Amino acid sequence: MGEMLHAARGRMHRAAEHVNVDTELVTRLDYPAETLAASVPLRRDDGSLLALKAWRCRYDSTLGPTKGGIRFHQSVNADEVQTLAFLMTMKCSLMGLPFGGAKGGVQVDANDLTLMEKERLARQWVRRFARIIGPDRDIPAPDVATGEQEMAWMTDQYNDLLGSICPAAFTGKPASLGGIPQRTPATGHGALIALQAVRGELGVGDGPLTIALQGFGNAGAWFATRAAEAGHHIVAVSDSAGMVRRDDGLDVDALRAAKRAGGSVTDTKQDGVERGDRNDILSARCDILALAALGGVVTRKNASDVRCKAILEIANGPVAPDADDTLRSAGVEVVPDILANGGGVTISHAEWAQNRAGLPWDSTHVDLYLKQQIEKAASKILDMMNEKKIDMRTAAYGVALVRLCDAISARGTHADFDPNRAGAKR
Ligand code: GLU
Repeated sequence: MGEMLHAARGRMHRAAEHVNVDTELVTRLDYPAETLAASVPLRRDDGSLLALKAWRCRYDSTLGPTKGGIRFHQSVNADEVQTLAFLMTMKCSLMGLPFGGAKGGVQVDANDLTLMEKERLARQWVRRFARIIGPDRDIPAPDVATGEQEMAWMTDQYNDLLGSICPAAFTGKPASLGGIPQRTPATGHGALIALQAVRGELGVGDGPLTIALQGFGNAGAWFATRAAEAGHHIVAVSDSAGMVRRDDGLDVDALRAAKRAGGSVTDTKQDGVERGDRNDILSARCDILALAALGGVVTRKNASDVRCKAILEIANGPVAPDADDTLRSAGVEVVPDILANGGGVTISHAEWAQNRAGLPWDSTHVDLYLKQQIEKAASKILDMMNEKKIDMRTAAYGVALVRLCDAISARGTHADFDPNRAGAKR
């Protein structure tokens, strides 16, 4: 087993100590149900051939078909894909969705691919993994460096292989192919809803918040837009090229325009903007440090540098488990990824349900569903935090575990049933 999965599931075991669940059931979540590793051949535009490493992990399907994105990134590996699939299992349970957890990935630098190469890669991925996906089995979605376009190619390829039309096999599709327009903003929008729902626990008062944001991809940019609309101040933003800071708040539309035009927020033309190194974002003084880039950016080594009152995990796993103790003793509460970015998969659920029913959801219903699922999950977390006197992440895992273990136990444990256990019928 990989180190990353080992560390991630430590958080689950910590939570299990605080809730009333059978440890035998928790142990069943220690390893993924299945991981398919495949070599995906990619013909480049210049005629050369690349053999790329790719994976799909279906971690646990107790609550329903497995669900999770596919990422294209050079650092993807089996351990990371399995860890992210574990996180999806916890997330779907916490969010009250009828899904298990999965994740997929290809080890490739998406910035290095042309549009045609990306299309070929998306289609090849489906050819390799079609046998484990499907609307009742495993439903992929966008993740790092994949979006509506990749989901459209993948759906088209899947339909070709099937010889019929199956829109519910992928979510995050364009609206023209059965997608929901709010799916793209859902992760960022959901992060704001989550933040507002738990802010009473963060020691940040109740006025407008100052927010430093790492990462200005889809989730980060939408979070910034929605947070600014709600009256909060985005005082610093970073991307891979650097950081910009403005104490009175940055103009988010101008940041988006700079990103579109030059590829980086650092190209923004706004008065009074200070520039810095991209890593300075972690020590920016603010109420909320929102992490919307990649995993593992706050570790034991730099956790004591943070100058925020609380962290909002918009990416998956931005706070490494080895940073937990340092942040806890510094009094920095972390709004965990499985709540903070749960909006994406929640609207994926609406899309899947819409595709299966053949009946569209209107946009008011979609917005309401997003708010309702996040607020319900947040309120269960707050109740558990207050009752057990535990931190927010432990409570979130606790809520997720109670639902999962109930379902595992209801389904039955025939194969390893021990007649000598307490309560066993003879
Ligand atoms: N990739 C997203 C996540 O990590 C969304 C998954 C989905 O919509 O299935 O939550």
